[in-house]
Amino acid sequence: MAFEGLTERLQNAMRKLRGKGKVSESDLRETMREIRLALLEADVNFTVVKDFVKQVRERAMGADVLEGLNPAQQIVKIVDEELTKTMGDEAVPLNKSAKIPTIIMMVGLQGAGKTTTAGKLALKLKNEENARPLMIAGDVYRPAAIDQLVQVAAGIDVPVFQLGTDVDPVEIVRQGLAQAEKDHNDYVIIDTAGRLQIDEQLMDELANIKELAHPDEILLTVDAMTGQNAVATAEGFNGKLDVTGVVLTKLDGDTRGGAALSIRSVTGKPIKFIGQGEKMTDLDVFHPDRMASRILG
Ligand code: GDP
Repeated sequence: MAFEGLTERLQNAMRKLRGKGKVSESDLRETMREIRLALLEADVNFTVVKDFVKQVRERAMGADVLEGLNPAQQIVKIVDEELTKTMGDEAVPLNKSAKIPTIIMMVGLQGAGKTTTAGKLALKLKNEENARPLMIAGDVYRPAAIDQLVQVAAGIDVPVFQLGTDVDPVEIVRQGLAQAEKDHNDYVIIDTAGRLQIDEQLMDELANIKELAHPDEILLTVDAMTGQNAVATAEGFNGKLDVTGVVLTKLDGDTRGGAALSIRSVTGKPIKFIGQGEKMTDLDVFHPDRMASRILG
């Protein structure tokens, strides 16, 4: 279960305040110390933790929470609100183009869930907007990647444009976009190559695709299970490509919370969707407030 350890530790930290008619400054200091440790243990970025703790402490002191009625409840509320803020406050919708097609470029490391997410997103658009997406197979380095995309697309009845593995990905995207124009697809979802780690050649290729396609949305897929590495990956991709949104995958797994809580603050880019399973229907819009409630349990 995601966030299990974090939820338990946050609850424990705040439980100790419960039943106290009055919370002393030293009670608050102790609680904040425990919250800080809980977040660090959950692999939340150090600076994010520092800012978070500072905000909560200032609000708790400033609003005379310690003097008021039911201070424990008020502190829980402050923690909830600050968690929400750390994750971006509001859900951020998918960017859309004024004229069709809206072009979405999927980027991310190999294994993060890029191809799966491309399929999930296509299905979501189909189901919710009656859209007619076209997917473009731009990962030419692994023949299995194209097969996988074709299989995913067949399962959700969405067409794929592909030219095999011998054509330059930029050229594939160029021809795929022409095809979408001809067929009046309202969305184009470009699947791109991933690597086990960020490398210069991959980034150059992605930058070239971006330059050609002018995507409305560059969605970076990161694996929530990888914690701080997910954050470093996000920084790397964002630095080179200026992504427009993040998809956090594998939140159904045993993830600690670090990625969910750090990515927005560290990169400035919103998490737009979360992947919560291997099925094509397991993609949800990311709502910071709901995620905060889930983390607090
Ligand atoms: P890519 O290399 O980035 O294209 O990654 P894939 O789309 O091939 O996904 C890698 C693996 O992660 C596959 O086995 C997917 O089924 C799995 N996967 C992707 N998203 C999720 C998710 O949200 N939850 C779970 N449990 N598995 C996922």
